[in-house]
Amino acid sequence: MPGFEMFGALERAEVQDVLDSGVLMRYGFDGMRNGHWKAKELEKALAARMETRYAQVVSSGTAALTVALASAGIGAGDEVIIPTFTFVASFEAVLSVGAIPVLADIDDTLCLNPEAVEKAITERTKAVMPVHMCGSMADLRPLKTICEKRGLLLIEDACQAIGGSYEGKPLGSYGNLGCFSFDYVKTITCGEGGALITDNEAYYLNADHYSDHGHDHVGSDRGAETHPFLGYNFRISELNAAVGVAQVRRLDDFLRIQEKHYRILERAVAGLEGITLRRVPETGIQNYSFLNFFMPSENLARKSHKALLKAGIDGCFYWYDNNWHYYRKWEHLTGAKSLGPLGGEVKSYLDRLQSQVFSDSDHWMGRNISCLVKLGWNEEEVEQRAAAMHKTLSEVLTTV
Ligand SMILES: *Cc1c(COP(=O)(O)O)cnc(C)c1O
Repeated sequence: MPGFEMFGALERAEVQDVLDSGVLMRYGFDGMRNGHWKAKELEKALAARMETRYAQVVSSGTAALTVALASAGIGAGDEVIIPTFTFVASFEAVLSVGAIPVLADIDDTLCLNPEAVEKAITERTKAVMPVHMCGSMADLRPLKTICEKRGLLLIEDACQAIGGSYEGKPLGSYGNLGCFSFDYVKTITCGEGGALITDNEAYYLNADHYSDHGHDHVGSDRGAETHPFLGYNFRISELNAAVGVAQVRRLDDFLRIQEKHYRILERAVAGLEGITLRRVPETGIQNYSFLNFFMPSENLARKSHKALLKAGIDGCFYWYDNNWHYYRKWEHLTGAKSLGPLGGEVKSYLDRLQSQVFSDSDHWMGRNISCLVKLGWNEEEVEQRAAAMHKTLSEVLTTV
């Protein structure tokens, strides 16, 4: 998936523009910048590509999630439902606005199970945040129906799935707010960066102000601006945004290469007796950043993960044992290991979480293998990899 595999002359030219103008900040200094507004340009390009009215670029994907939650008015004591399989950032973002990240099971999409969401709703629930892990999405229609019926917001963490779609809509644009990450390992990168998209003007204006200390950005004199409410600094620098301006133009090329490589690996794996692919919901189109499949048992999944590594096939993950992506090993979070005290409600939820069991999630995650799809492989490398994966996995399956 990584955009980091493919940057060069185009990105350099955009960064050079910023250096030549001498203005590294995204706001102000109007007279000095020779018309260079990279963050604004990136926002325009993203909104156009994602078919939303607004985009707000910020300093990271985690910042985008935090700003999205804050912009929608989510705060202390509110509950936000997130999946057990995600990146710690979704959990952190909810905590950082004082809200409670309530975990719910995933299903064979490897994303939030709508039935589990329904069970997790309480009178304090304000939002549901599906996370489109490894390039594909949850059953978003049923999630949206639940949200509409219960008066909840649907906030998409699309950090790992930029360029995918559902019901013909770009991922991130399906809910009330959607978030992307442009960190160094995402499909397109700014080095560090992120963005939120929305059609809602009020959320957008909130995000624009909140991510810059509450500045209202009216007029061209920063010193004269007013501050309608509290905000923080989640600004992206012009240097990072410049890299993104070049990368977003290349997104569809990256996706084409990714899909081509994905199809070759998919053919090699899907035909093996006992292996099933992760379910992609009807009308859903992945961004093809990972090939995800299920082995017949946890034991065989562990074995195949080891065998793939031993055969020199890099980039295959067994997330079940990973302490970034699956709640089971989030000891620092479930153990409430914060530097200062956490709010009482948050702390008591984390205490309860320690003894909670998510057996449906364990069922899918325990059998899942997830292999990164790279852009930089040549045709021969993909074919060799596919053949080696086929051979290794069939050996594991036949030595039962
Ligand atoms: C990468 C990622 C984030 C956070 O993005 P950063 O830019 O690294 O802060 C959030 N959610 C998911 C699912 C991610 O993969």
